[in-house]
Amino acid sequence: MTNVNWKNELSQAVTETAELYRILELPIDQDYWPVSEEYPLFVPRPFIGNMVKGCPNDPLLLQVLPRQEELIAVDGFSRDPLHELSELSNNSSCCVLKKYAGRALLLVSNDCGIHCRFCFRRFFPKINSFRKNYFGKRYSDKNDSDQHHSDHFNTLLEPIRSDHTIEEVILSGGDPLLLDDSELEQLLYYIVKIPHVKRIRIHSRLPIVLPNRLTPKLINILSYPFPLYVVLHVNHPNELSDDFLVRREELSVPVVLSQTVLLKGINDHPDVLYQLFDRLITHRIIPYYLHQLDRVNGAAHFEVPTGRGCRLMEQLRQRLPGYAIPRYVREIPGMLNKQEILRDKD
Ligand code: SF4
Repeated sequence: MTNVNWKNELSQAVTETAELYRILELPIDQDYWPVSEEYPLFVPRPFIGNMVKGCPNDPLLLQVLPRQEELIAVDGFSRDPLHELSELSNNSSCCVLKKYAGRALLLVSNDCGIHCRFCFRRFFPKINSFRKNYFGKRYSDKNDSDQHHSDHFNTLLEPIRSDHTIEEVILSGGDPLLLDDSELEQLLYYIVKIPHVKRIRIHSRLPIVLPNRLTPKLINILSYPFPLYVVLHVNHPNELSDDFLVRREELSVPVVLSQTVLLKGINDHPDVLYQLFDRLITHRIIPYYLHQLDRVNGAAHFEVPTGRGCRLMEQLRQRLPGYAIPRYVREIPGMLNKQEILRDKD
């Protein structure tokens, strides 16, 4: 395995549309300029390397490119479609969401390794200043004592430790794999010590957009003998680069799952989804969820009608084995589980 430093790669991510167009040998389109201030372009170069040069409709490019359509207000779309921001602001903890029975989401990172234009948490930077109190500086601070770390984790994990109904902790964000290896290792250590926590799940897109994030140390940490599930966010077969697939083979986590957002113009075609799920199972990644878009402001142009989603699912069922078919779901704020979309009228 080569050992390119993923942090260096992250620091060299492209943040200017003009630079992205230059790399992709596309003519500058002024229409894309005015929308990037609140949620700027941010895309690592390894992910750009999976895009097709000269193709303005490349499905990976469209996921990251700011567009004029983002400025259009659309009925039913909002800044906080899952009411998570409001729940966090009413919550004594700034990092823990208890949306589902028996499970707690721990929002461990301020940022992501990429800015997906359709992300339902695209307006989350508002709470970054709270989370920075917990993450981002202290674990790598060589002056911090072990006692300091211990106090810190005890405070962070108190809402989970004090709630004996929580059996599973889901590390989410942002992207939890933006934590340093040592930070992540310590966090997992403290979670595992909570007696009623039986499972840990890590949701991440980072290994897909930045395969070098799967460092030997991280692979070792994820092999910890505890029920630990990794769920990778991947939307298109072109995202499954050779670099990622090589590292995936080294990842000995027993169960790797995937989740995908159904996106208009990107993966709302039976052949594209077939290729994606077929490649995933070939590499021992089980498709877990196909998400209906969460209706966040600025993302309406990505929405696929559920009727079309159901027809796509039916076509996939005719071509793939059952274990390659994810559940087609949407999230409704306040509901204790995701809602499976089974019929056109759903
Ligand atoms: S990686 Fe996930 S959390 Fe981050 S911007 Fe993309 S969809 Fe949102």
